[in-house]
Amino acid sequence: MKNNIILLFSAAIAIALMSVSCKKDDSVAKPVITFTEVGHDNSKHAMRGDDMHLEAEILAEGLIKRIDVEIHKEDGSYEIEKSYTEGKYIGVKNVEFHEHIDIPAEAPLGEYHLHFTVTDKKGQTTLAETHIEVVEFDEHEHHDE
Ligand SMILES: [Zn+2]
Ligand SMILES: [Zn+2]
Repeated sequence: MKNNIILLFSAAIAIALMSVSCKKDDSVAKPVITFTEVGHDNSKHAMRGDDMHLEAEILAEGLIKRIDVEIHKEDGSYEIEKSYTEGKYIGVKNVEFHEHIDIPAEAPLGEYHLHFTVTDKKGQTTLAETHIEVVEFDEHEHHDE
């Protein structure tokens, strides 16, 4: 009888411990995205026929699985997409994203939305949004960094 009680007691502890660890796994925070520089000097401008400098701080407790950048005209008539599924950002928890996105020469001028999506290895997704303006190419405004 005494043995049975001990057995029951240890089973109860085991179940309690198991549920604690499961709870911990499920509660990984969603990725957090902070834009640090959109366009050179945070101008939020991109020249067509050039590339747009984009920087963001990413914190993904569940580790980064993929990053998707979508830049589309406000009326949806034109879209530029770029995805990062391998390389230096993937499998990382905290990183400074810094990329140059090609803006085709034929991209129409005007206001665009920029959607920046980070998916972690738990399948959780965070979307950050900002606006940019695509302007005419000007070689004096061209930067390399
Ligand atoms: Zn949009
Ligand atoms: Zn840059």
